[in-house]
Amino acid sequence: MTCAPDCAHKRAYESEYEAQRVAEHQMGKTPGLELRVYECDGCEKYHLTSKP
Ligand SMILES: [Zn+2]
Repeated sequence: MTCAPDCAHKRAYESEYEAQRVAEHQMGKTPGLELRVYECDGCEKYHLTSKP
């Protein structure tokens, strides 16, 4: 199993719901910020990314 380099330094969330809540919170604090939740192949948890 290959782990994305993201895993080492990125916060991982146990559920998509939790990740989405955090994303919305951060977008609320930072105008113009666009965050997306994605399921990680490496750790099988969820991370946030600002990339499309
Ligand atoms: Zn991961």
